[in-house]
Amino acid sequence: MNATQNVPLQFYNSFGIVAKAFSLVRIGTVEDAVAAQQALKNHPEGHCVLGGGSNIVLTGDVKPLVLKMEIMGKSLVAETDKAWIVEAGAGENWHELVAWSLEQGWPGLENLALIPGSVGASPVQNIGAYGVELQDRFDSLDALDLVTGQIFTLNAAQCAFGYRDSVFKHVSSGPNGIGLAGRALILRVRFNLPKVWKPVLG
Ligand SMILES: Cc1cc2nc3c(=O)[nH]c(=O)nc-3n(C[C@H](O)[C@H](O)[C@H](O)COP(=O)(O)OP(=O)(O)OC[C@H]3O[C@@H](n4cnc5c(N)ncnc54)[C@H](O)[C@@H]3O)c2cc1C
Repeated sequence: MNATQNVPLQFYNSFGIVAKAFSLVRIGTVEDAVAAQQALKNHPEGHCVLGGGSNIVLTGDVKPLVLKMEIMGKSLVAETDKAWIVEAGAGENWHELVAWSLEQGWPGLENLALIPGSVGASPVQNIGAYGVELQDRFDSLDALDLVTGQIFTLNAAQCAFGYRDSVFKHVSSGPNGIGLAGRALILRVRFNLPKVWKPVLG
């Protein structure tokens, strides 16, 4: 794992706040993610995950290890009579995924065009706009458990989506409590784009 020291974050947050990461690692592959999880043992300050930086406010230099998500790739991974299942890496730009899917002739994400940020952050707050939320087009995602090092898959019910809310915004309370805040590093997200499509105009 190659961590870079003293990285300016000004261009990695949409407010352009001047701050630096004491240590930042770029996650371009699943292997990078696994290596970063191992390295966390040597970072008592913990970690923070950075996507496109459009929903964070930096209040100073960042001591936790910054995991900058850059896993790329988007493809059709399955097709049924009813839907196209499209997968995208967490580091993909959200709007570019929307535009690309529409260019392929797979509608469904159009209401979510131009929302700033990355694919990996989209399930965190269940992004939404103009009557459509991510959960309406969500199939599943793969994530790395930053505590155990295990890669796991969640469906929509397991993500516990709510209004700008999900399991990724809650800390687990007790052995049966749900909550993956600070624990799940989202690697890939799959979308269910229905073939029988009606525009949502509400
Ligand atoms: C001008 C503007 C307009 C916006 N309009 C909308 C809108 O219409 N609808 C809407 O829903 N939101 C909107 N937002 C909010 C923002 O676009 C979303 O929250 C978006 O999902 C943030 O993506 P990001 O990659 O920039 O996330 P970041 O700001 O980098 O991170 C946001 C949170 O997600 C976590 N995170 C990021 N990537 C991962 C990952 N791979 N795994 C685990 N955790 C991760 C971070 O740790 C952080 O807690 C808007 C923001 C701006 C600035």
